[in-house]
Amino acid sequence: MIDQRLQDDLTVALEEARDIGWGEPADYLRDVQGRDNNALAAAVCTTEGEVVGVGDHDRLLALQSVSKAFTYAVALQECGLDRVLAYIGVEPSGEAFNELSQHADGRPFNPLINAGALMAQALVPGETLEEREALLLERYSALAGGRLEVGEEVLAAEQVRADRNFALAHMLASSGMLTYDPHEVVQGYLRQCSVEVTTTQLAVMGATFARGGRNPVTGERVFDERVVQQTLSVMLTCGMYDASGSWVTQIGIPAKSGVSGAMLGVVPGALGLASWSPRLDTHGNSIRGLDLFRRLSDRWDLHVLRHR
Ligand code: GLU
Repeated sequence: MIDQRLQDDLTVALEEARDIGWGEPADYLRDVQGRDNNALAAAVCTTEGEVVGVGDHDRLLALQSVSKAFTYAVALQECGLDRVLAYIGVEPSGEAFNELSQHADGRPFNPLINAGALMAQALVPGETLEEREALLLERYSALAGGRLEVGEEVLAAEQVRADRNFALAHMLASSGMLTYDPHEVVQGYLRQCSVEVTTTQLAVMGATFARGGRNPVTGERVFDERVVQQTLSVMLTCGMYDASGSWVTQIGIPAKSGVSGAMLGVVPGALGLASWSPRLDTHGNSIRGLDLFRRLSDRWDLHVLRHR
């Protein structure tokens, strides 16, 4: 049964966000997303498995950088916390997402900037690109409760402008952090960024985190609770590019955004909240998504640090 209050609040927030007409989609995705400039969707999934979507919530969008949180969780689950911490830090970088930044020992600052995301991709077990991707897709799909696939059109656009990611992977290789070809690491990373979901599926992925790693719709345990705690911690401190500090103070929930205009927020013990609008601000965050999250965080009293 659909909770009428969730539905009503989401609809109101969505319509208020629709009034914001400025901001441009990422230019390199213009050909792929041109038709989607005005797309707008929001969805929520509670830890009881109740799902509500409004607007374009059943259309496909690319995960892009939201995938970084999921691959980090897979690396944690498969390799254990100590091993992952030996390769990827947990400090906000305060720099742009694609900065060539790492600690003096070679570790990228955190898994949600590209350097750290490439490192997380490189930690996913498997002998080949195909094996690693099969594991990632299987875990992503379990999070969403439905089969997810790589979007070939988005992937083609990513491959045309991957120089920066190649540079980052070579930086990691030169620090002795990689055990296989940096080009293959980049391919795996671009493919994970191109995985497509609906906004509703994204909300379910968030709700699986909110429920400590168990999908509230299918009942499947996808990640251990400790893995989820670690992932949500870096999402809280580093998830919103170089606007992460203002995000925490204003909205106050672990979150991750992507250049497609996707936004995912997690309220532990309560819900996953997702939005999609391709119009971005100068930090690369969805403008309408920010507005929507701000309104719903206030309305539903979501800030995790609020005195209760
Ligand atoms: N594939 C994109 C890149 O690495 C993802 C960027 C993003 O969502 O921030 O450039």
